[in-house]
Amino acid sequence: MRASDENSVNITETPAPEAEHGLAAHLAAAGPPRPDGLGVADPDVYDVVNPGGRRPVLLLADHAGRAIPDGLGKLGLPESELARHIAYDPGVDAITRHMALALDAPAIIHRYSRLLIDPNRPLNDPTSICQISDGTIVPGNRALSMADRQARARTFFEPYHRAVAAAIDWMKGRTGPPAVVSVHSFSPVVRGRRRPWEIGVLWGDDARLPVPFMEKMRAEGLCVGDNEPYSGRNLHGYTMETHVLPFGYANILLELRQDEVADAASQDLWATRLEAALRPILEDLNKNG
Ligand SMILES: [Zn+2]
Repeated sequence: MRASDENSVNITETPAPEAEHGLAAHLAAAGPPRPDGLGVADPDVYDVVNPGGRRPVLLLADHAGRAIPDGLGKLGLPESELARHIAYDPGVDAITRHMALALDAPAIIHRYSRLLIDPNRPLNDPTSICQISDGTIVPGNRALSMADRQARARTFFEPYHRAVAAAIDWMKGRTGPPAVVSVHSFSPVVRGRRRPWEIGVLWGDDARLPVPFMEKMRAEGLCVGDNEPYSGRNLHGYTMETHVLPFGYANILLELRQDEVADAASQDLWATRLEAALRPILEDLNKNG
């Protein structure tokens, strides 16, 4: 929590230790966050933030992390490449953590780089383990054997998705079917073209969160991408398509332009703005069923 959260997090001042134990225990029972293949210095595959959160909302950050295990030699890339958007979604980690506290909701945050394996692509998708990303060749992803690919999935993909499934399962039984908020960020310029939207909202046929949320963002004078810069109707992803859409949970996928969320102050500002816009919509959703 940061000082600027003080007004928005008073709901979390009464801890819910039983609930916290409950979600943490449920996720641990679903499978270890540290599978074989990680060294002692490597982080867990995912973090669970605010597991005692009492609002029936689950925040997800598929691409927040940029860790690469020591054993994989940075995939043959220099630090300058690993700091780029090809490795992760800049800004998302801090924003999602902040929103989880402010919304009194749990978040599951992936810690590892999408260059190892993309948690938001089906395993058989050609972009699951990229050999080239935005013009950069990834030497450590060349000529992987089937066993190598399966090991990547076992280590970095499956534990995260087991945790997401287990968290939704646990929340359904306690706080009610969760609304799911997925947080991503996008590159401001692609192939020399500047993208105008400060924020994009990706959605399919469930308007409950996206439509009122976009209205609020536009009322603040922001340029909002409605299924831009990507469309939520293509179903090319994996996380929402697997855990959320088939079950009819209210959902929204946020895409923040990376130059808008490049430092701690702007990340705080966006987290506060997103939370303030989403909270009344989520409260209405709960009231109306
Ligand atoms: Zn992303």
